[in-house]
Amino acid sequence: MNIAKIKQDYDIFVRDDTLVYLDSCATSLTPRPVVAKILEYYNSYNANVARGAYRNSTKATREYELSRKSVANFIYADSSDEIVFTSGTTASLNTIAYGLLNSIKKTHNIVTTAMEHHANFVPWQQLSIKTGAEFRVAPIEKDGTINIDKLLGNIDENTKILALTFVSNVLGTINPIAEIIQKVRKKNPNTLVIIDAAQAVSHLLVDVQKLDCDYLAFSMHKLFGPTGVGILYGKKEKLELLEPLFTGGEMIEEVTDTCTTFREVPQKLEAGTPNIAGVTASREAIDYINSFLFREIRMHEKELMQYCIDSFQKEFGNALKIYGPKDINKRSGAISFTFKNHHPHDIATILDDKMNIAIRAGQHCAMPLHTDVLGVNATARVSFSVYNEKKDIDKLIEGLKEVEKILL
Ligand code: PLP
Repeated sequence: MNIAKIKQDYDIFVRDDTLVYLDSCATSLTPRPVVAKILEYYNSYNANVARGAYRNSTKATREYELSRKSVANFIYADSSDEIVFTSGTTASLNTIAYGLLNSIKKTHNIVTTAMEHHANFVPWQQLSIKTGAEFRVAPIEKDGTINIDKLLGNIDENTKILALTFVSNVLGTINPIAEIIQKVRKKNPNTLVIIDAAQAVSHLLVDVQKLDCDYLAFSMHKLFGPTGVGILYGKKEKLELLEPLFTGGEMIEEVTDTCTTFREVPQKLEAGTPNIAGVTASREAIDYINSFLFREIRMHEKELMQYCIDSFQKEFGNALKIYGPKDINKRSGAISFTFKNHHPHDIATILDDKMNIAIRAGQHCAMPLHTDVLGVNATARVSFSVYNEKKDIDKLIEGLKEVEKILL
């Protein structure tokens, strides 16, 4: 990959060529064509979708629906009717959880794992509190992977939901989703399998038909797209199971004083004016990632991960502890670490202040994982994307030496 050339796609690097951005797990940077597409909407055909009879509204609707097609193609969905636009992964997962409220009974159980982001943990916990269903949190192994047999041990004839992340935003673990789903289906074909793909989509090819998941959620802002756009994929008949979290404009068929009938999915789940510019620009983001091969993205990220892990080991030995699988074939994106007993927030602040390096510090919205499994209050996290290079890691090492000097 020609990183110098790739960096030219991002105005943020053109404006500040000293920036070292190592926080793509939080949000990826936005390439110029995506920003241009947002501006194009506001500057040249600004109108609401699916309601105007004039040319700009027709154009806006067409652009909006083309994005739905593009997302469907990107994840190999059967049809664009299986794609619902939301505001993010969190909104997608909450839409599913709320939508299933009346399908869950006291006798059911809901299974998730100890490595989930709060967005794929709290909605299920709350759903179980509301319905009386048992909430089961499958443990993970010391090396940050899932033991499939232990996970399956939590699935029984009463399991209604399994909610699982594809890639952990803290440990970087890539879960063998296809294998897990296949085994879950054998044990209980009625379990609805929900995949949080927020950290997977920009690193791995995601094929919902091959995975055979019932629902899948992700955010466009982690995939070179704008903030405020989320994707909720569901097999058509599984989307139809969901009661709408929001009701109101454009999702209705008929309204009287006493009752309302809803449109078919996906419109049934898209009440109100959506993020038209964001959805439209999402197509550019997909075109952007499609300008790379996933094989090439993965090779690049593995090279960076290995270089980072080796450099950490060489420079700091046991003073720096990395969490998650040792084998880079089993991990993607994120490397979380603790460094001596320095607080991750101090590390992040010094790296920013002295070196213009952006990393994440804290619990990364995964409190149960930090406190119950890793046994630490917080970690520092670096994460990579197509615009990162080994030079960034060299600067990070230099920065961590500064941290050592300042914090002793
Ligand atoms: N799930 C995972 C694994 C994440 O990493 C994130 C965000 O970091 C989310 C869900 C939530 O995404 P959003 O904040 O875009 O809704």
